[in-house]
Amino acid sequence: MNIPFNKPYLTGEELNNISLAHQNGQLAGDGEFTKKCQSWLEETLGVKAALLTHSCTAALEMASMLIDISPGDEIILPSFTFVSSANAFVLRGGIPRFVDISPDTLNINPQLIEEAITEKTKAIMPVHYAGNACDMSEIMRIARKHDLYVIEDAAQAVGSTYGGTSLGSIGELGCLSFHETKNVIAGEGGALLINSPEMIERAEIIREKGTNRSKFFRGEVDKYTWVDMGSSFLPGELIAAFLYAQLKHSKTINSCRVATWTRYYNALKPLAEMGLIQLPTITQDCQINGHIFYLLLRTEQERYDFIDQMRANGISTVFHYVPLHNSPYIRKTECEIPCLPVTEDISSRLVRLPIWIGIDKHQDFIIENIFGYFGIS
Ligand SMILES: *Cc1c(COP(=O)(O)O)cnc(C)c1O
Repeated sequence: MNIPFNKPYLTGEELNNISLAHQNGQLAGDGEFTKKCQSWLEETLGVKAALLTHSCTAALEMASMLIDISPGDEIILPSFTFVSSANAFVLRGGIPRFVDISPDTLNINPQLIEEAITEKTKAIMPVHYAGNACDMSEIMRIARKHDLYVIEDAAQAVGSTYGGTSLGSIGELGCLSFHETKNVIAGEGGALLINSPEMIERAEIIREKGTNRSKFFRGEVDKYTWVDMGSSFLPGELIAAFLYAQLKHSKTINSCRVATWTRYYNALKPLAEMGLIQLPTITQDCQINGHIFYLLLRTEQERYDFIDQMRANGISTVFHYVPLHNSPYIRKTECEIPCLPVTEDISSRLVRLPIWIGIDKHQDFIIENIFGYFGIS
């Protein structure tokens, strides 16, 4: 038996949509399926505007341009995140100021944000790890007090809510991912969510190579031209056609994953009560989307032993982020390397269990093997 860590889910409607897109005769971006996906996101997530991008990385880069990051500007974010969260700003000369995470939620610790703010700080980027909400009420309060932008990296949080509000719709900007490894997928894909109406027009321009092409297509100008900086951030229609099938099933996708998540959680509780592992903590008022199920083991060595033993039994489990703050790239730059003890400790002990639609038939076997690792049957 070989249980993979991830298995992309198909709803069954993707290929039909792709064929319809071809019949429509437009395979480039911003056709009918792109518009359908964007309207779906706007209505379902409650945002002023949603623009499809070819990745969350692209959405993050657009966000960085939209808030005019220039050399020397600082952005506050966790080090326990994917490289694109920081790289999007570094590309424009921004300086990442890495802040430690909370040991329970593994999200940015809001108590450490204010001391990281300087007169160069331009934005705070909360990353909703595993689809679990950051403490957004505290983060928004700090941002308002210091007049900073909030850009949510909601790559993992499509469908999660905080106090009933969709993650990605709380800050000025939110970035989603539809990468194959996420819940709702398009192979590669993403979206920029815009909650500040004054940013919408410029976002359309940045996404369309710095031109006012979107205005031209709406008949608002009689020719289109180069009006700002930008790049090509939009996906083609085949991707949007695939994605639309997934979006329409996203509620079911997320609830299946939450069921798997909950079954792992309940079954493994006795091990947590014995002090052998630590289970995830969900933020108060957050409804998760079941994106990641992780465990914290007691030591880094135990984590490697656990992964090896699971692999020997045909179960693929993986660790996650290598912290960014002491990465080879940051060491090459002038950036000050902060001391982030929680990030370093957690990242060395974390292991993720396989979670995908259809894994339920293997779940008892996986759980048995975890108990077996600890010598309990
Ligand atoms: C997956 C992920 C990204 C990047 O998403 P892409 O769509 O692959 O560019 C960024 N941030 C976080 C937190 C992620 O998990």
